[in-house]
Amino acid sequence: MDPRALQPLDIEIVNDSDLAISWADGHVGFFPGRFLRLECKCAECVQEMTGEPILDPESVPEDVAPESVEPVGRYAVKITWNDGHSNGIYPYERLRQICRCDACLADHAAKSD
Ligand SMILES: [Zn+2]
Ligand SMILES: [Zn+2]
Repeated sequence: MDPRALQPLDIEIVNDSDLAISWADGHVGFFPGRFLRLECKCAECVQEMTGEPILDPESVPEDVAPESVEPVGRYAVKITWNDGHSNGIYPYERLRQICRCDACLADHAAKSD
């Protein structure tokens, strides 16, 4: 993979609840806030041993939004959410995989055909 694909140039909270990331390879990633919150894989949200979800999606407000986003080392971001959750670490590699921008959604759809 192009190493620039894992290098964010700009990380922005958009629409008051979603996240947009401009990557160094030119890709602009988009992540709906609630989707990203439910994708959290921290020990409070997912059983570390079994991978089973602990987080009940119904306990996450519809309007959950990131309050702050900070880089963790050179490989991930940590998001503090307005529902009080702040342990979630999102590795850049994973963010590229779960990207929900129009181009990636079209790509996923094409592959699952
Ligand atoms: Zn979590
Ligand atoms: Zn994308």
